[in-house]
Amino acid sequence: MRFPSPSLTRRSALLGAAALPAAAALPGLVRAAGHSAAAPAPVHHAFSIGDFNVSTLLAGTRTVEDPQGTFGMNVSAEEFGEVSRANFIPTDASQFFFTPTVVNTGGEVVLFDTGLNAAGITAALSAAGYAPDDITVVVITHMHGDHIGGLIEGDTPTFPNARYVTGQVEYDHWSNADNDGFKAKVAPLADKMTFIADGDAPVSGITAIAAFGHTPGHMTYHLESGEERLLLMADTANHYVWSLAHPEWEVRFDMDKSAAAQSRKKILGMVAAERIPLVGYHMPFPGVGYVDTRGEGGFAYVPLSYQMMLKG
Ligand SMILES: [Zn+2]
Repeated sequence: MRFPSPSLTRRSALLGAAALPAAAALPGLVRAAGHSAAAPAPVHHAFSIGDFNVSTLLAGTRTVEDPQGTFGMNVSAEEFGEVSRANFIPTDASQFFFTPTVVNTGGEVVLFDTGLNAAGITAALSAAGYAPDDITVVVITHMHGDHIGGLIEGDTPTFPNARYVTGQVEYDHWSNADNDGFKAKVAPLADKMTFIADGDAPVSGITAIAAFGHTPGHMTYHLESGEERLLLMADTANHYVWSLAHPEWEVRFDMDKSAAAQSRKKILGMVAAERIPLVGYHMPFPGVGYVDTRGEGGFAYVPLSYQMMLKG
């Protein structure tokens, strides 16, 4: 059977238009389809907050099965299914994104977290126009492996010119735990580290806001330049649907589940009330969006579209 050529042409044009932006924006994801832990092609997303140049860096992706076992531990399969269906996402697999952020303040080049390994973060930085020795400050939001993995490869620090900043509470917890990741990636850099508390500023214009629970000393970072603001929420919420719609749903990675839920409500409530953009380390790439309130005590993620292109 032969289709009339006009509709075939129209259909091809529509398919082409639909397929092209996704492939152009996310080559890493397209290439990674069907593989777990595939190394993505370098991808970054650049924007400005006042005088700060910000780039989110896709340093890795991973497809993980049984998402309810990770993101909805304390709810029924029916409820998990309903919320997933309402948001057009499957219940048998989830896509993980690992997205460090680099901020050039004019005075400092600050990298927030380092991904799973040195190769992933250096490739993404390179795509964004940075060499490892451009980084002057590395801020570690918390010490899970997907955030500290790129600090060191073998015995070689990845960022030779950097000083390091992390939360005192976080450092104290892991230094007292018998943890191989900490020993390999963090301990060798301890003499170059500054330890901070809630409200401290690692760099002018960047302030730490405690969001304990995911780990004992997990911190978010508030950026302010000119009239503009941005919150780097790190792992306060780890899934854009399940953890925002239902902050009380228990997440396997949250070490103190009740404290993590309280931190989600506090941080997401603040971002929603003040209508500031946020970056989430595990939000779908580019990891930038807004948060609105939704339902009773819940939130909705509003992924970035063109808002930042039109800001005055
Ligand atoms: Zn994480």
